Amino acid sequence: MTQSQRALVIGAGFGGLALAIRLQAGGYRTTLLEKRDKPGGRAYVYEDQGFTFDAGPTVITDPSALEELFRLSDKHLADYVELLPVTPFYRLCWEDAPAFDYVNDQAALERQIAERNPRDVEGYRHFLSYSQAVFQEGYRKLGAVPFLAFRDMLAAGPQLAKLQAWRSVYSMVSKFIEDPHLRQAFSFHSLLVGGNPFATSSIYTLIHALEREWGVWFPRGGTGALVQGLVQLFEDLGGTLELNAEVASIETAGDRVNGVTLTDGRHVPTDALASNADVMHTYSKLLSGHSRGARQGRTLGRKRFSMSLFVIYFGLDRPPQGLEHHTVCFGPRYRELIDEIFNADTLAEDFSLYLHSPCVTDPSLAPEGCSAHYVLAPVPHLGKANIDWETQGPIYRDRILDYLERHYIPGLQEHLVTCRHFTPLDFREELNAHLGSAFSLEPILTQSAWFRPHNRDARINNLYLVGAGTHPGAGVPGVIGSAKATAGLMLERLDDR
Ligand SMILES: Cc1cc2nc3c(=O)[nH]c(=O)nc-3n(C[C@H](O)[C@H](O)[C@H](O)COP(=O)(O)OP(=O)(O)OC[C@H]3O[C@@H](n4cnc5c(N)ncnc54)[C@H](O)[C@@H]3O)c2cc1C
Repeated sequence: MTQSQRALVIGAGFGGLALAIRLQAGGYRTTLLEKRDKPGGRAYVYEDQGFTFDAGPTVITDPSALEELFRLSDKHLADYVELLPVTPFYRLCWEDAPAFDYVNDQAALERQIAERNPRDVEGYRHFLSYSQAVFQEGYRKLGAVPFLAFRDMLAAGPQLAKLQAWRSVYSMVSKFIEDPHLRQAFSFHSLLVGGNPFATSSIYTLIHALEREWGVWFPRGGTGALVQGLVQLFEDLGGTLELNAEVASIETAGDRVNGVTLTDGRHVPTDALASNADVMHTYSKLLSGHSRGARQGRTLGRKRFSMSLFVIYFGLDRPPQGLEHHTVCFGPRYRELIDEIFNADTLAEDFSLYLHSPCVTDPSLAPEGCSAHYVLAPVPHLGKANIDWETQGPIYRDRILDYLERHYIPGLQEHLVTCRHFTPLDFREELNAHLGSAFSLEPILTQSAWFRPHNRDARINNLYLVGAGTHPGAGVPGVIGSAKATAGLMLERLDDR
């Protein structure tokens, strides 16, 4: 195939990588420009004293979407990276109730549900069928379709109405399930993509069906190995990845992009441009030379952005004792805490945590006999709570480690060999994330599908978006789906020529 048309993708997150692969496989000469020294974006990797820490995504779902990227060029995911099954999917823990092992086994799930509330077994079955119906509509049918016109939204309307998409995740779960802990167990998932279970559309209950359908996986060598596999595929196809290549501005002539200028002063020309960088950064900073940039920046400034995260990466000089790979540690409050995370201007006294202990599945991520972990706490973004993280970060870190030591990892501090943390400020500075949000625009109904920034800009018609800020939204399956939607639009143009 002759490749005469050039495409640039800004940002090598999962969305940028997946799009670059599709464009290169589809006939564009594609260059991926990444600001940092490693690809992956939120899926960056830290290496400290023989420990490997995946910075972000650890729950890998829908391997079929990843497979599809390799099959485009008759290759196989398994030749690049091995996915290991994780079970239980999560261990859910409370301070005042026994743990719940969230597994992909109907009988085991029903047994644990019955121990809490026998009536909820039937309720769970109804919830599962609802979640499967939403999954069919929201993910299989619409997850990788660009919503460019309002009529696309109207067409989806009747189905959304039938599925009562205006209700929140929590309200829908509560319709089926009575037990307060089980309500948490089946509603917390939207937090994984930045959604408040009490405000996010019940469409996000589809995550439950998605996990039940395809399982939860972890790449051997960590999520970083999956990122490397995608980079390898892209380069095998002839694509170019440039690291330490930060875009300073997008250059336009009239209503067309003709290239970008990097912070080192280089100009890189292109026929088409897709940005995987934060949507606000893309419009208000990179496109500030065009009136469209300022206008979209103002529009985005009125939107709601997802919460941020405080993440601690730590290594212990002993194996992960008594832990599962993924542990959700619910604190004493649920609704009130989530409300404070999304709306308050201070840090809450208590927290709910997600603890990642990947050596349970793959001991190679730490030196022999040791274990790598990360723990994250959802926290307000910088627009809600302007916390001085430089000084508060170490204090908050110590509080969390102390809590973990008391409830989950006895002797933690004594066995600690390495420790670093990442704050909302780092999301802003390192990833150019608006307000330090960890998941971009909050996934509420009025910011979803057509209401989300579109995969192709409405005015500058060779400018595209990919990643968490466009349709369908955050999460690895989401941004891989966004790449499919965006690639479809870009390749259509190529075919037209
Ligand atoms: C701690 C954490 C845990 C998570 N856990 C999970 C999970 O278990 N499962 C899951 O499915 N999802 C998870 N998520 C969500 C998921 O990681 C993200 O939604 C997804 O990875 C975002 O991908 P993206 O394509 O939008 O790009 P990003 O990962 O946001 O990457 C964007 C890239 O653009 C680059 N960039 C920005 N500005 C410029 C510029 N000017 N020039 C050049 N490059 C630039 C950045 O450096 C970055 O590499 C998690 C997120 C976080 C933060």
